[in-house]
Amino acid sequence: MNQLEYLRRAVEAGKLSHAYLFTGNDGELQEEAALFLLRHLLCEGREKPCSSCRQCRIVSSRTHPDVSWVVLQEGAKEISIEQVRELRHTLSFTPYEAPLKTAVIPQAHLMNEEAQAALLKTFEEPRGRTLLLLLSTSPGSLLAPLRSRTQEVPFWKFPRVLSESKEAETELRSLSAALYVDRFRFAKEHEARAAELVRSWLVATRSRMLQELTRQGMSSRLQYLRKLAGLLQEMERQLGRSGVNARLILERVLLEL
Ligand SMILES: [Zn+2]
Repeated sequence: MNQLEYLRRAVEAGKLSHAYLFTGNDGELQEEAALFLLRHLLCEGREKPCSSCRQCRIVSSRTHPDVSWVVLQEGAKEISIEQVRELRHTLSFTPYEAPLKTAVIPQAHLMNEEAQAALLKTFEEPRGRTLLLLLSTSPGSLLAPLRSRTQEVPFWKFPRVLSESKEAETELRSLSAALYVDRFRFAKEHEARAAELVRSWLVATRSRMLQELTRQGMSSRLQYLRKLAGLLQEMERQLGRSGVNARLILERVLLEL
């Protein structure tokens, strides 16, 4: 289950925590996840999030009156205590149109210590229903008591999935031109996706073979593709077994390119 699915289920079960900390190496992905969660929570459509109802639209355009965004002000290096005080003030009001007041703080690690301490107070005072989303690529800079009061959800961005045969083909071609040291690095970095890669390479190689066949009959290129497809098929089979070393399998393919 991925993180969005996890959040979706929490919304649907009415079991959302009142504070989340989205971590990982990609700030944009964290913001997308925050928008997804808020749309899902506030959507008035049948299929949530519908992305087209008024609630979804004003969440996405960041103009929802009950969603506060605390962002770094122009020219500033830190998110200030004044900004957090203002947020606390805003959160103390009854929501205008949503069932709860929410706040998103991208780059939460840019809050200075005073600001973080002020935010911590929101956890200590009695309040109505609120949802706080802290986003940070550097959560180690957050005060421990603040971190411990949030539920952490990691968002890591992985390389693009090679689902399209054309993309896989381009990938194969550039790998076949790469130095062995770079191919080994690729194998090391992508071993977790070995099965997916081998599968997409096999699909790409087969489609390339068909094109070669219709074009010029037997050729050395076709023989190469046939051999490669055979190897990929064998590696795909091996990857299906348990306890195999995916990295070695990727390396074996990359050496044959
Ligand atoms: Zn909607």
